[in-house]
Amino acid sequence: MCAITAGRRGKRVLVVEHANRVGKKILMSGGGRCNFTNTGTTPENYLSANPHFCKSALARYSPWHFIDMVERHRIAYHEKELGQLFCDESSKLIVRMLLDECASAGVRVETGCSIEQVQARNPGYEVRTNRGVFRSDALVVASGGLSIPAMGASGFGYQLARQFGHDVLPTRAGLVPLTLSGRPLEQLADLSGVAFAVTATSNGQVFSNSMLITHRGVSGPAILQISSYWEPGDPLSIDLLPGRDALDVLQQWQAERPAAELKTLLGELLPKRFAQRLCEVWLPNRPMRQYNLPRLREMAATLAAWPLVASGTEGYRTAEVTLGGVDTAGVSSSTMESRQVPGLYFIGEVLDVTGWLGGYNFQWAWASGHAAGSAL
Ligand SMILES: Cc1cc2nc3c(=O)[nH]c(=O)nc-3n(C[C@H](O)[C@H](O)[C@H](O)COP(=O)(O)OP(=O)(O)OC[C@H]3O[C@@H](n4cnc5c(N)ncnc54)[C@H](O)[C@@H]3O)c2cc1C
Repeated sequence: MCAITAGRRGKRVLVVEHANRVGKKILMSGGGRCNFTNTGTTPENYLSANPHFCKSALARYSPWHFIDMVERHRIAYHEKELGQLFCDESSKLIVRMLLDECASAGVRVETGCSIEQVQARNPGYEVRTNRGVFRSDALVVASGGLSIPAMGASGFGYQLARQFGHDVLPTRAGLVPLTLSGRPLEQLADLSGVAFAVTATSNGQVFSNSMLITHRGVSGPAILQISSYWEPGDPLSIDLLPGRDALDVLQQWQAERPAAELKTLLGELLPKRFAQRLCEVWLPNRPMRQYNLPRLREMAATLAAWPLVASGTEGYRTAEVTLGGVDTAGVSSSTMESRQVPGLYFIGEVLDVTGWLGGYNFQWAWASGHAAGSAL
């Protein structure tokens, strides 16, 4: 996006990509259909040490700007849920569109091009690669985060930032499945594949969506979202009856179906195998008439805030994003240019700006790229 924007403004642009093709994360995103933006994008959908940093770029390049481009290229798309836009056919069309836009803006793209060294050359920069030495007035670092090393992710951007005196805030995996160990894992692992709607809460953040039990722990959109706010040791609670008052539900069952057992009734709201397990491990299973009010209250509390003890995350191997990164304090929020090194820019995921699940990370990549491309 940065190359396209700068190229359209008449700049001579070279994109240096060390992988054998560009946009691998776009290709694998959204299950191969690329959730390319979210129509409800706001700065509140991002995590950053400076929550204001993303505002200017997001305001100047909105989801509708990107949607315009998608429509101009006649790429069919649909909204899946919550403003999330996906291609009807394939993520390949988004990569094709960006490459076509690059071509028409006169941008040169070099793949399989590994950077050996970058040096400031007053003025400008010198980039030594396996394909020769390139000199430029400006250098834009768009090398992403650490997630999915198998796809070409590297710590290169952070290294470069440090080389030029920038602070890099600690990084960790975000939008990532949580792992369980010991008893919590034994209690759930054989239910791998079971999914249901929950509300997950940690550190004051709340997400309602589905949760999936895996053979290592838990995943699914609600868990991926909360994983960006959770760190090992932090409390995590799961409302198993989202949108309902658990005590009301239990009391209604007691009044209307006193002979029915708890596990049978819970099995009408939750997957039966999970309801059964809940009643083996966390809740006493009896006919509803046998519970007194204090017991109902205790059970309601467990259902509303089921304490899931996660031991960690699956890490960068499966994480969709990297939290932390180049400290935005050293970067202009309107141009993405380094405050201390003229002509050096940082855009996309390498910066300490991380979006929620749902198209927000690509929208940040497009918006920050557009901001830099307009300023170069
Ligand atoms: C499995 C998966 C699914 C995802 N799905 C979605 C989704 O549907 N919607 C969404 O909004 N976000 C999604 N994301 C997040 C999104 O892909 C990233 O936030 C986004 O791609 C970041 O863009 P970027 O340009 O900053 O970095 P990247 O897309 O990571 O691009 C960085 C590029 O730099 C190259 N590079 C790295 N080091 C070097 C080097 N030393 N020299 C030369 N080149 C280098 C890499 O090969 C790569 O091509 C997903 C992520 C993953 C892992």
